[in-house]
Amino acid sequence: MGKLLKDLGYYNGKYDLIENMTVPMTDRVCWFGDGVYEATAVRNGVIYCLDEHIDRFYRSASFIEIEIPYTKDELKTLLSDLVLKVDTSETNHEAFLYWQITRGANIPRNHVFPENAKASLWVTVTPRKLADVYRTDKLITREDIRFYMCNIKTLCLLPNVLAAEAAKKAGAGECVFYRSEANGIKNRVTEGSHANIHCIKDGVLHTAPLDNLILPGIARRNLISACNALNIAVNENPFSLEFLLDADEIILTSSSNFCVRATHIDGVAVGGKSPELLKKIQDALVYDYMTKTSK
Ligand code: PLP
Repeated sequence: MGKLLKDLGYYNGKYDLIENMTVPMTDRVCWFGDGVYEATAVRNGVIYCLDEHIDRFYRSASFIEIEIPYTKDELKTLLSDLVLKVDTSETNHEAFLYWQITRGANIPRNHVFPENAKASLWVTVTPRKLADVYRTDKLITREDIRFYMCNIKTLCLLPNVLAAEAAKKAGAGECVFYRSEANGIKNRVTEGSHANIHCIKDGVLHTAPLDNLILPGIARRNLISACNALNIAVNENPFSLEFLLDADEIILTSSSNFCVRATHIDGVAVGGKSPELLKKIQDALVYDYMTKTSK
């Protein structure tokens, strides 16, 4: 094996340190955000929940009619090879893997798909320890002004970016989106700017249903599996902001924050009423990650 890199950027067959990589300005992602992406944790060179992320990646690409020029197995092999090229000795052998596919190059700028478009694959690998699952976070809320294709992991993330920045400015870590009216529910909670949102009430896990208003999070799926294994009932009906505020525990999940407890929403103390149950779930999620990524 050659010398390990401190991080890695890959674009259509070429790779180097991220800082040395450049991409053509004609890539349609620069014009239109025309692409989809995935991200997950890596430990000991093992990509956590790779099959689930690959399946969602192909689903997202197919929703927006991008043909990925690799089979799932070819892509899995490529990603697995790339993560091994990065030095993770200072981060507990952990890293974060990100990849995206875009509709390729387009000159001149034109909304319609270019003829014979060849999709571009981008990958980055960054050494990074997994965030502490047992840490807590503060949330703010915002009307969900996004489009109606939130089930696609698209690169068009401007409302999410603005909401995440607003949370940061308010001293919080995440923003909860709600739709003032959806599925007949006033102030329906959808998800966060970069996480799914759930709550525990009277021993039941409540999580938004998988429709076009939320991303089908892989960490959400893992949370539900953990609850099933622990005999904790799961309710996938839509719920309101008022229901969330009154819940026993409020939880954020994502591939970089497996199960984080929220302590405040818009400056008001929330949750903290079912810590033992929450800890059982968190322990189960950490166990799953550690066992599936052990050498
Ligand atoms: N919802 C949104 C909008 C996200 O951006 C993310 C993660 O980036 C999630 C939910 C959580 O998805 P996952 O658990 O697959 O990381």
